[in-house]
Amino acid sequence: MSDVSLQAARRRTFAIISHPDAGKTTLTEKLLLFGGAIQMAGSVKGRKAARHATSDWMALEKERGISVTSSVMQFPYADRIVNLLDTPGHADFGEDTYRVLTAVDSALMVIDVAKGVEERTIKLMEVCRLRDTPIMTFINKLDREGKDPVELLDEVETVLGIQCAPITWPIGMGKRLKGVVHLITGEVHLYEQGRNFTRQDSTIFASVDDPALEARIGADMLAELKEELELVEGASHPFDLGKYLSGELTPVFFGSAVNNFGVQLLLDFFVEHAPSPKPRETTTREVGATETRLSGFVFKIQANMDPAHRDRVAFMRICSGRFSAGMKAFHVRSGKEVKLANALTFMASDREIAEDAWPGDVIGIHNHGTISIGDTFTEGERISFTGIPNFAPELFRRARLRDPLKLKQLQKGLAQLSEEGATQFFKPLMSNDLILGAVGVLQFDVVAYRLKDEYGVEASFEPVSVATARWIRCKDEKKLEQFRDKNAVNLAYDAAGELVYLAPTRVNLQLAQERAPDVEFLATREHA
Ligand code: GDP
Repeated sequence: MSDVSLQAARRRTFAIISHPDAGKTTLTEKLLLFGGAIQMAGSVKGRKAARHATSDWMALEKERGISVTSSVMQFPYADRIVNLLDTPGHADFGEDTYRVLTAVDSALMVIDVAKGVEERTIKLMEVCRLRDTPIMTFINKLDREGKDPVELLDEVETVLGIQCAPITWPIGMGKRLKGVVHLITGEVHLYEQGRNFTRQDSTIFASVDDPALEARIGADMLAELKEELELVEGASHPFDLGKYLSGELTPVFFGSAVNNFGVQLLLDFFVEHAPSPKPRETTTREVGATETRLSGFVFKIQANMDPAHRDRVAFMRICSGRFSAGMKAFHVRSGKEVKLANALTFMASDREIAEDAWPGDVIGIHNHGTISIGDTFTEGERISFTGIPNFAPELFRRARLRDPLKLKQLQKGLAQLSEEGATQFFKPLMSNDLILGAVGVLQFDVVAYRLKDEYGVEASFEPVSVATARWIRCKDEKKLEQFRDKNAVNLAYDAAGELVYLAPTRVNLQLAQERAPDVEFLATREHA
């Protein structure tokens, strides 16, 4: 096997999807503990505390302050390399989450045992379904009273439309929680409250028939368990690797993240069965992960990640080949060769200069405004990875500057922050307005806050009569010219210099479209 095949086969790149408070942060921390990426419980928590700060954007700010490690966490486990991609927490930033989900090979769904399937989980599952992403499920907070496990699996099956194959099964719940049974190995792992379990200090029985088990959990409970196991065996789906990999079936684990219980069973199963990088579609062909030439796409951009360095980083998921430090790559959209100097990897708990990276890994490339979300890098081939969503802005505001002398700074700030993809920045052809488009209203507050904090510009956002935006394409240069002349009042350039029609009303848009049948009006800026 080539180096690329070997390294790709070791990679497990995934994200955790859950409704807020289900336990994503806690579980992440336990996984990192097992991977040796952090030494102490609490290191991930610190950043979570920030999320509950006085306002959402303050929290966002703090969250961003904690270095790159929170965006991509890489750790070795059982001779595999696990890449955990963080999905942003706030509902308003759904589009970022969607893009992260395009960069993973599988997902882990965390469900609160008392709350069951919640609204955000449903939405995230819909996104996973678009690519048939394989999903494992962790039912969390078993140390609390919750729904009946059989009913819970039924809920997952009916609400999310995915078959459940329980891999572990709880023995009791809440105060009566005694442990879990591994339905494949038959092992019983006891839960002893207050102990921060690792594999060594958890008591394990080889099976439910071990005579010593009765003494530990009691005859009644044991009888109840055996009865339940029979029922589960008859009523649930057996684990089927093929169905899991095609997204039809989810293996289910029960546990308690905060007590580190049931987590290692999940992780062991995950590294064994979760998929390594798969082939990915581009505009012209499918690219196999084991191809020797480098390819990858940018799924996220973050400005001023480290306030001390004022850097902007583009996160590239490697799809094939090998990245090595200092190599040149072909930036397909601009048609230029660029040197990927000082790219970052996310090994252990610090950002480091990448020496090598392989399919499934994520590297951070310093961005000076030339890289956009969705961009493809190769070793020369003109292909573009598809399926990285772009979102049409639905709300528009005009930036109002307090100090007119800071116009340059304002433009720079708006342009750089727009690279992240949550907002879009437009400069009308005929006026000096600076218009910002966003998907959620909170974005305007975030941008105002960050303009002040990161660019020293005080600006506010006021209503502007723009109802919707359309990116303009036209193959015929002459017709485009005519269109531009006739519609100049409603035209603008976006941050990348592309022509956009800013329609004051939907009716206006419709008329403009009818009058210019040769011009394409695209709802999002496509990269393909
Ligand atoms: P996130 O919003 O999904 O990242 O959730 P967190 O990991 O921050 O957890 C939300 C709350 O649930 C926190 O107060 C955690 O301490 C708590 N929590 C997490 N796991 C468990 C668990 O297994 N049992 C109990 N009782 N609480 C938990």
